Amino acid sequence: MILIVDDKPENIFSLKSILQLHSFPVDTATSGEEALKKALKNSYALIILDVQMPGMDGFEVANYLSDNSITRDIPIIFLSAVNTEKKFITKGYSSGAIDYIVKPIDPDILILKVKTFYRLYEQNRDLLAAHEKLHAEVEVRKKAQQQIQEKAKDLDGILSSIPQIAFTAGPDGSIEYVNKHWYDYSPSLSQFPNTHPDDTCIVVEWKKMLLACAELELEVRISKLAQEEYKYHLLRVVPVNEAGKTVKWVGTFTEIEEQKQALKRRDDFVGMVSHELKTPLTSINGYMEIIDAAVEGEEMKFFTSRILKQVGRLHNLISELLDVSKMKNGKLEFVMEEVNVQQVFAATVEMLQDIYPKYTITYKANAPVIVWGNAQRLEQVLINLISNAVKYSVDAKNIEIITNINEEGKFYCGVRDWGIGIPADKQTEVFSKFYRVADSRSFAQGLGIGLYITAEILKLHNADFGVDSKPGEGSLFYFTMPVLNLL
Ligand code: ADP
Repeated sequence: MILIVDDKPENIFSLKSILQLHSFPVDTATSGEEALKKALKNSYALIILDVQMPGMDGFEVANYLSDNSITRDIPIIFLSAVNTEKKFITKGYSSGAIDYIVKPIDPDILILKVKTFYRLYEQNRDLLAAHEKLHAEVEVRKKAQQQIQEKAKDLDGILSSIPQIAFTAGPDGSIEYVNKHWYDYSPSLSQFPNTHPDDTCIVVEWKKMLLACAELELEVRISKLAQEEYKYHLLRVVPVNEAGKTVKWVGTFTEIEEQKQALKRRDDFVGMVSHELKTPLTSINGYMEIIDAAVEGEEMKFFTSRILKQVGRLHNLISELLDVSKMKNGKLEFVMEEVNVQQVFAATVEMLQDIYPKYTITYKANAPVIVWGNAQRLEQVLINLISNAVKYSVDAKNIEIITNINEEGKFYCGVRDWGIGIPADKQTEVFSKFYRVADSRSFAQGLGIGLYITAEILKLHNADFGVDSKPGEGSLFYFTMPVLNLL
């Protein structure tokens, strides 16, 4: 809006008409005092100010306007008489006004000047608005940055207070952040802690997982800088995915030395006890066989055979325990050679059929197969699987062993029963050391190590293994292994 200030209504009228003709919104004041009041109350784009007015003249009004912070930026066009002395006009300029027009007014010049000022005013207003917006934006960003910094500080505090070594890495695996514990084990951010020479190399495993975008879980021994004492740590690195893409990796090293030591003590104890038990048991077995051969009468024979059977069971249990304790770093050791696996399995099934006469154990095999392995250990695998099938079948009396060469050209062996079955969430667990499905305890006794040993033996034969099972319907334990040749 434009404010016209003139004491003569006819002047105001003519000016107003010219401006309104060009669609400018107009306000008016007939004295300097009224003009000041209005300028403080309203927002004007321009003030057209008559210089000569009774009371407060135009220059005085301009002085007041330029002294006040609200009004000082409003441009002013002075209207002065033709004969106005130059010094007044100069005075007008110095008091904040920007231009003047000499009376009588030339409408074209007036409109030209008003338009220029109006444009200036609009540009100024836009600039101001843009500036304010920018200022607000800067404030928002500053606040957000401050919040991020505070969060990062908090996170850093949390990650430093946990006992684990923690780190994060970018999608390409380059380490971006580490907590303070990292530097106890590594001299730099980019270098993983030093591992024991006998342990798997972290970088090699880490690269594999990076390619597969899969979680890494590794037990490694690491030592603090300038120390030779290696301690077991569990390294876990988990991918953080967003919209199906890995954007970050988060990793921790958790010390598990104490648990490892406790497990070692347990295995040492199991080894010592089973070793000590084996010697007297062998004697008992020997003497019992002599007594069995010497006794006569059906009743006595029944007892001695029962005792021998139980001694045999005890012997098997102790042998299993010894196997577990003998595993060095979780590995069984045995000699590998060419094995006619079908032949070994056929003989094993025959032997087990004799031991379990109440069960029908069928063995389905096609051509003989030679594999690279250890005959005794492969026999042990089949014995474990068939004995379990017997143990965990209550009413069903059929057990089926199927062997063949599968579509990948590997030797396949499956042991099928129609027993109690295993719930889906327990099926991978059954291969763990000392694990037993809770429900099966009422069916049969056991230590929960048969399948663990089976799995270890199979791993050393480069075999894949697994179980398909449904509670109440039975189980199929199977494995596949490379074939050396077909006979
Ligand atoms: P054990 O039989 O001495 O307990 P294993 O290691 O041989 O130990 O088996 C581990 C567990 O797996 C068993 O306790 C049982 O719960 C389950 N299991 C193994 N074989 C079978 C099977 N054929 N049917 C159902 N459950 C089985």
